[in-house]
Amino acid sequence: MVNVQVKAAVKRVGIVGGGQLAWMMATAAKKLDLELLIQTPSQADPAVSIATETVLGSVVDPQATASLANRSDVVTFENEFVDLDALSLLAERGVCFRPSLASLSPLLSKYDQRCFLRDRNLPTPSFSRLSEAFQSGVKIQFPCVLKTCRNGYDGYGTFIVKTQADLDDVLTKVPAIDLLLEDFVPFKRELAVMVARSVSGEVAVYPIVQTHQENAVCRWVKVPIDLPAGLAQQIDAIGRSIVEHLQFVGIVGIEFFQTTDDRVLVNEIAPRTHNSGHYTLDASVTSQFEQQLRAIVGLPLGNPALNCAGAVMVNLLGFESATSDYAEVRSRLAEIPGATVHWYGKSEARVGRKLGHVTVCLDSVSEVEMEAIVQRVEGIWYGEL
Ligand code: ADP
Repeated sequence: MVNVQVKAAVKRVGIVGGGQLAWMMATAAKKLDLELLIQTPSQADPAVSIATETVLGSVVDPQATASLANRSDVVTFENEFVDLDALSLLAERGVCFRPSLASLSPLLSKYDQRCFLRDRNLPTPSFSRLSEAFQSGVKIQFPCVLKTCRNGYDGYGTFIVKTQADLDDVLTKVPAIDLLLEDFVPFKRELAVMVARSVSGEVAVYPIVQTHQENAVCRWVKVPIDLPAGLAQQIDAIGRSIVEHLQFVGIVGIEFFQTTDDRVLVNEIAPRTHNSGHYTLDASVTSQFEQQLRAIVGLPLGNPALNCAGAVMVNLLGFESATSDYAEVRSRLAEIPGATVHWYGKSEARVGRKLGHVTVCLDSVSEVEMEAIVQRVEGIWYGEL
């Protein structure tokens, strides 16, 4: 059989954002013979070290994006904090954004995302704008959840509201018009899935993972997981339906709540690589970063299957303000059998900041072993406290 090597149609990939998600594309870019150009505000940002060229500028600076686009064949995103109106002027001038601005548009505000899901009969928590709830005189039920519509991440902008006093407190920080009000979901656990879609419409769905958040920040991810009958198919169908409705080119991370009666509700769609997919760097045939690049440069997608029996990913979150590189702790983490330590090289640690992660690949799947690994990694990392 003739092995036809499909060449990437484009070579220079511009990325709006220079954090760890862009940094983790480096290995895949090399493999696919692509150059990464980065738009990021600071020379100290993680992805600057792997960039062929860097455009220093805020991710919402359209002039910086214009400069990035001038040097790139295609422009993609590392985060969703983009100014669509400003970028549409560039799109009109022929800049190729993948994903397209039209497919990003329903995802950038948490309120718009909920409307997108509801309008397509995809399951999601009940919601409204807080300002609309006030206007219609609806009595706010506690507990509930308030979220800033734009620019929330890692729990910044998400408020679990238990009392009227909590609500009043949130309103001193954010105006009601900017807040999404939604039901508090007493979930059994949180799940996530990465779904990629190529230029030709091919779709690849990764295995479903369990994620665990504390104070709304991801602590760990386990894969694969046992799911009640039918739930995996439902998640697969929801994932496909989302990328197809959006005609999305790239990769999305979709977060779900598994309810106490074993339904799933979509919590959030991230239009990019996602923390719940970091395990794919070590534990999958095709990492989420390679998949994103394949999708946006017009290559066929890679195999999203695991390359081992299972994996546990544990985030290394900052627990102090410091400039340490934690080299000694990292070397102890690296001694765990099957472990790979990824260190993002950030110049400063801050409480809750994502500084790196550890993935441990497994030869067999056992919940007891997975939990023991979480405890071991967190014991070494936070045990320093
Ligand atoms: P972010 O965009 O900052 O990650 P999310 O909307 O994903 O914010 O919320 C972060 C975490 O907060 C979730 O992973 C979950 O643990 C909790 N959370 C969010 N929304 C709800 C909800 N409606 N009910 C219960 N918990 C929630």
